[in-house]
Amino acid sequence: MLQTSGVSEDERKRILIIEDEPDIVRGLRDALEFEGFAVEARGTGSEGVATALEWGPDCVLLDLMLPDDNGYRVCEVLRGKNQVVPIIMLTAKAQEADKVRGLDAGADDYVTKPFSVAELIARINAIFRRQARLSATDDTFLIGAWSINARKHTMSRGRTVKRLTFYELEVLKLLREREDEAVSRDELLEKVWGVQPN
Ligand code: CA
Repeated sequence: MLQTSGVSEDERKRILIIEDEPDIVRGLRDALEFEGFAVEARGTGSEGVATALEWGPDCVLLDLMLPDDNGYRVCEVLRGKNQVVPIIMLTAKAQEADKVRGLDAGADDYVTKPFSVAELIARINAIFRRQARLSATDDTFLIGAWSINARKHTMSRGRTVKRLTFYELEVLKLLREREDEAVSRDELLEKVWGVQPN
């Protein structure tokens, strides 16, 4: 979200790190600032939520194990406050059950510790590229009986309204562009997640 008033406003993309391990925070901050991002870091879930609401980050990197709460809950709290900011979870747990729980909580992506900072930055940049494309296209479209609102990140049918994560919305947008065609898993990974198939 760019500031529109005043030439001195900082127009760098904002990344909020919610993580309590100082070494990881230091490494991430250095790498992200080197990439040209504005970075804030908070060591607890409650401080992280407060900063997210006040600062309006463009992306949140969220540790799963925080001193005062777990990342799933922090994710749910942010989503409950209508924060559609992309959230990438930093987790030491690679089990499928944890990923499903995180997706249910509203996370958009994962990296598993120990992760490569280069890979994380590639994922962040992929999110921002998709957002740029998103903002250049129509806000609403239909898939079957569902009305998709790309600006609000929602899908609705009658009185039922569901929130869409960033990637869910991107998948729907791609399927809409390719209506009546089959889209392969590799193509989804490449176009939506920015992952090159082997
Ligand atoms: Ca931790």
